[in-house]
Amino acid sequence: MSRSATATIHLDALRANLARVHTLAGDAKIMAVVKADAYGHGLERCARALGDADAFGVASIADGLRLRAAGHRQRIVVLSGPDAAGDIAEMRRLQLEAVIHHDAQLAMLEGENGGAPLKVWLKLDTGMHRLGFAPERATELHARLRALPAVDPDIVLMTHFASSDEFDNDLTARQTQRFLDASRDLPGERALSNSAGLLGWPQARGEWIRVGGLLYGLSVAEGKTGADFGFAPAMTLTTRLVAVKRIARGERVGYGATWACPEDMDIGVAAIGYGDGYPRSAESGTPVRVGTAPAAVIGRVSMDLLTLDLRQAPNAKVGDVVTLWSLQLPVETIAAHAHTISYELTCGVTRRVLFAEEGA
Ligand SMILES: *Cc1c(COP(=O)(O)O)cnc(C)c1O
Repeated sequence: MSRSATATIHLDALRANLARVHTLAGDAKIMAVVKADAYGHGLERCARALGDADAFGVASIADGLRLRAAGHRQRIVVLSGPDAAGDIAEMRRLQLEAVIHHDAQLAMLEGENGGAPLKVWLKLDTGMHRLGFAPERATELHARLRALPAVDPDIVLMTHFASSDEFDNDLTARQTQRFLDASRDLPGERALSNSAGLLGWPQARGEWIRVGGLLYGLSVAEGKTGADFGFAPAMTLTTRLVAVKRIARGERVGYGATWACPEDMDIGVAAIGYGDGYPRSAESGTPVRVGTAPAAVIGRVSMDLLTLDLRQAPNAKVGDVVTLWSLQLPVETIAAHAHTISYELTCGVTRRVLFAEEGA
């Protein structure tokens, strides 16, 4: 018997979310960020649904290869660029574009001779302090890159925000100002914002927006769901109830016996656990649905199974559909109960979960 845990991907939601991003972004071009297997939704199926994007953003050359193999002709940007000199030839062959953020990569490009020029995105570190060059070096680096035969002289300038999801945190305004100051005299397009930047920081628009989360209907803004901004979740995670049983008051449920029944009550057991990507950190009280009735996680999440309080689902029976997250049960709510963000939950759905598509 196959397991019941199923992630249904709503292709129509992906399409509608991209259309809404285009509307919010005005004239800016959209890079659809599809790293980590499209935030766990499946690279090929999402790229197909997001075919109207101006470019794709990936974390590896291997993902760029998958997109080219699927027939995508758009620009594809490898968000951390080449790791080794051999990567450059592969990127050229696949017509992938490279984010250049480090002197080691500059040295690789300076060592190249011949071949079609590589398109480059020059990344400045304006305050996140992850990838990027010091902004004061922008003019020098831009000139060095443009002088290289291995590099296409049409360079995009980019930076990345640390706190754009906090709409009252002025770090984003300071990062934007540093970026604009450093790149003022340089030609070329600008790419500053991610999803939260698009929502909260119109002054950071530039010619490109790099959007991931919102395409999947996900929000990282504290206390907000994608739906609060008019986006539809692209994943529904469901399974089935495999047991319903009566447990006496005072008996304890699950590993570690962490949860005690406050009364004689029905509990349910659902066929999903952390081996499927349902977070072990989800606390007792995390909401789920059994059919259309509300229920809640009790006790510890195990590898294959989840125990549920069925007191509000009196008609529950073996075989009923159990919904872990959906349009009605936002993954952001589950993430809050598990002390993480929605992105980690969708990225974490494992290979043994069956993936289904809906909405052609
Ligand atoms: C992941 C990523 C994005 C997309 O971020 P979202 O918050 O999902 O929109 C944009 N830019 C870079 C450099 C990234 O790594």
